Amino acid sequence: MKTFNLFLYAFLSLIILSGCEKNEIETIENQELQKSKTIQKLLEIGFSNDEIIDNGKYFLVQDDVVYPYDWAKELNETSGKQRFNGIPISPNNTVIGIYLAQETFHTLSLRRALEEVIWYHNRLNNRTKFYLSGLGPVVISADNSIFPGFCAQASAPRIVNGEGVPGGFININEDYMVERDYTSNDELKLILAHELGHIVGLNHTNQSFGQLIPGTPQSDPGSIMISNNCGVNWNGYTNFDKLALETIYTLPPPEIKRAGPGCSDKLCIWMVGKFFQHDKSIVEVKVPTGQIYRYNISDLVYNIDFQGQEVITLRLKTNNERNQFGRLGYVDVRIINPDNGDQSSFKRVRR
Ligand SMILES: [Zn+2]
Repeated sequence: MKTFNLFLYAFLSLIILSGCEKNEIETIENQELQKSKTIQKLLEIGFSNDEIIDNGKYFLVQDDVVYPYDWAKELNETSGKQRFNGIPISPNNTVIGIYLAQETFHTLSLRRALEEVIWYHNRLNNRTKFYLSGLGPVVISADNSIFPGFCAQASAPRIVNGEGVPGGFININEDYMVERDYTSNDELKLILAHELGHIVGLNHTNQSFGQLIPGTPQSDPGSIMISNNCGVNWNGYTNFDKLALETIYTLPPPEIKRAGPGCSDKLCIWMVGKFFQHDKSIVEVKVPTGQIYRYNISDLVYNIDFQGQEVITLRLKTNNERNQFGRLGYVDVRIINPDNGDQSSFKRVRR
């Protein structure tokens, strides 16, 4: 089948080439080359030829995963740890803006479901975070020309300028979903969580493609990544969904980017940063005379702001901290992720 496809492309190219100017010929030849490279790479990473469908715009694999024709263009052949789709998003690109192009929809509103899914996703302990952004890079829009019978499709990560970037789009088959009444908030949440999974490179749990992520089973019936889940209700991420993301996108040591005083009496401290272990983070406050005070998660308020940055707020709890902060004008804070013992460096907070 692989050879067949390549011959087919060569043959079609010949037909198309006959009536073209030189520049057009070069463009078409280039595209055919990109296509054959992408097919070859998809075969290498475990898809079968039958699963790779050329729909005239891009390759569609396993029904709802989109690979642009030039997907393999800058693929680094020596990149070692390939999981699922084979391309992990580079650390600098894992905080991902999502643009919901609501104007492309007639009646379906995804906003609430999307916000809820992002809330859940951002509280998994891995370094991928989503936030709503007018800029993307991920665009969610209505597209009723999707493969019949499917609710949505999404593109997978690829390499651009040597870096792994997230998939760029999620297309929603609005007409089909409205017609079938697959529009409850819980149904929308599962579809969005699933397609966002493709955006970061997860593949279908119930299909045989790709390497299994270490520690995950051969089957996980409640996984968000079960294929074709139209009309199925969201029931959260399974432990193995979480483990899959934690394994591919392991949390690096936490970082505090900015910190400052808060509350009207300036006895609170906020920290903005990334890679916090959201459900267990520990904060240490070091006062100028050297004592260190520990705050565990029950003392902290954890949030994610509208840019996908993580925010932890605490209120100084002892008189010594409050006095020194007030009198000497500063304390130092750091964040510890207890599961792996990683810690940020101390950040000075001035009052
Ligand atoms: Zn899918």
